[in-house]
Amino acid sequence: MASSLEICGINKRFGKGDKSVEVLQKIDIHVAPGEFLILVGPSGCGKSTLLSIIAGLAEPSEGEIRIAGKNVVGMAPRDRDIAMVFQSYALYPTLSVADNIGFALEMRKMPKAERQKRIAEVAAMLQISHLLERRPGQLSGGQRQRVAMGRALARQPQLFLFDEPLSNLDAKLRVEMRAEIKRLHQASGITSVYVTHDQVEAMTLGSRIAVMKGGVVQQLGSPHDIYNRPANTWVASFIGSPT
Ligand code: ADP
Ligand code: MG
Repeated sequence: MASSLEICGINKRFGKGDKSVEVLQKIDIHVAPGEFLILVGPSGCGKSTLLSIIAGLAEPSEGEIRIAGKNVVGMAPRDRDIAMVFQSYALYPTLSVADNIGFALEMRKMPKAERQKRIAEVAAMLQISHLLERRPGQLSGGQRQRVAMGRALARQPQLFLFDEPLSNLDAKLRVEMRAEIKRLHQASGITSVYVTHDQVEAMTLGSRIAVMKGGVVQQLGSPHDIYNRPANTWVASFIGSPT
């Protein structure tokens, strides 16, 4: 069963008093169970800060984050059951691909047979079954990114957060990995939030997109709506709608 994610009235300020900077303002986004939501906006608009708040790596100044209806603000990251994939995939260099994928399961004391079954399932889903014995140093960039996703997926998290996972890959691989992520989401059905600064990526990947600028959601809608009915001239020019 997939979980819902409700981002409710989130404000975030860094610093105190006169020097404080408001980085997120009144963010309200409800993500349905199993949905794949895209958060797109220029660099510095607050995307990573919002993901950090969802994951529990930062606390909001105001507001609630509800996962499956439960407010998780104040709860430790490890208790939130969230997996995150970044652009830099910090794989364990001395462990095999299989052990990288199974690491979190071993930490949870999952029995070996069950763990191996899970690793095999995830590897098949990501088409890396033939790479399980290799070490990260023996993989291409795209293969490493798949292992990083496999590692996140193996835990069967309630939520999947992606922070510009493809921005270090070349253009061709990026297109391939987009399709892969889409397929993976369809196969796993895990509620996901995917952050990118790339308009093309946003428009091709998402069924619903939140367009952000300066810590404010400018528009939330389907790619079709955002393209054809941009909420303001800034959204129109950012997305490249005909004017
Ligand atoms: P994005 O991921 O969209 O590029 P970020 O969420 O990383 O944006 O950053 C949003 C804004 O918040 C930026 O102006 C950044 O400089 C600022 N910021 C991020 N983290 C901190 C911090 N720990 N202290 C102060 N300012 C921060
Ligand atoms: Mg960022």
